[in-house]
Amino acid sequence: MLLDNHGRVINYLRLAVTDRCNLRCFYCMPENGIDLLPKKELLTYEEMLRICGVLVKTGIEKIRITGGEPFVRKDMMSFLHDLSNINGLKEITITTNGVLTAPLVPELKKLGIRSVNLSLDTIDRNRFFAITRRDELPKVLHTMDELLRHGIEVKLNAVVMEGKNTEDIIPLVNLTKDLPVSVRFIEEMPFNGTGAYYPSLHWDHLQILNTIKEHYPEIEKMQDPPWSTSYNYRIPGHKGSVGIIAAYTRSFCGTCNRIRITPLGMLKTCLYDGGVLNIKDIMRNGNDDEYLRSTIINAINNRAKNGWDAEQNSPHESMSSIGG
Ligand code: SAM
Ligand code: SF4
Repeated sequence: MLLDNHGRVINYLRLAVTDRCNLRCFYCMPENGIDLLPKKELLTYEEMLRICGVLVKTGIEKIRITGGEPFVRKDMMSFLHDLSNINGLKEITITTNGVLTAPLVPELKKLGIRSVNLSLDTIDRNRFFAITRRDELPKVLHTMDELLRHGIEVKLNAVVMEGKNTEDIIPLVNLTKDLPVSVRFIEEMPFNGTGAYYPSLHWDHLQILNTIKEHYPEIEKMQDPPWSTSYNYRIPGHKGSVGIIAAYTRSFCGTCNRIRITPLGMLKTCLYDGGVLNIKDIMRNGNDDEYLRSTIINAINNRAKNGWDAEQNSPHESMSSIGG
């Protein structure tokens, strides 16, 4: 079992396989996109498989593939296939915007993917366009249908933003009535790639919960799974559930079980840190797996206590180069 210097279990890796994306969500990147990293600076699939193999031997049990948009990277399905062959890896999950995903669902099912997080901030086509700057809502909804049809668990991620989609909170909750989906409302975090700071967060997890309670006073708290970042609720009679993620308030740091690797090959032991170890350089300098493993363990042994400590002196980049 891999433990950090605060006694927290580390068993979950979020791997951002690209910084490229086919949407331009305004909370994630500027309208004209971000400065893309040169291709040769991105980790290759071989490098990613090597790191994942070392980490699985060290205690990582679950890997989430994220980005940027994972499915804009060429040969992603073949990479997922190789990843699924790593001995000892218990679970692979994916976070996707769903634009290119629908036709891939049968193959994802064959690879043993049991759960997919789909980003869906609104079910209104005009607001979807205003938020993502692309008119792709029908494709995302089709992906949701395909995932459900193939028996893959669906979590819908909705970032709640003042003046953008707060009128969508109840319609999104209403989806849980007939669909077995988990709708998860996420506090907006300061990673929109513009460097702008957020003076305060109006739509924090309490405000989101109160809004849902006004409409559904019968909402009940569920037991949260181990290491959950969401507070989970159900509405009696609904097939699905509702989660609220205090991503900005950071109330879950005490049980945080995750590390991240960016497309550039930086290890982040907290979402809010600026990267604590350049794994790509270690590999490209010809070091062996044992050295790689020991440097990663060393970084995990020097982990910040929480997101507020980790954030000190760290730049706020675009979420597309972190992976969420
Ligand atoms: N492109 C994929 C997608 O959108 O699902 C995967 C990458 S995206 C960076 C991962 C998650 O981060 C998405 O669910 C997205 O909504 C969330 N995210 C991006 N920027 C955010 C922000 N500033 N605050 C909160 N969540 C954010
Ligand atoms: Fe792309 Fe995901 Fe960022 Fe939206 S949140 S711009 S879909 S990486």
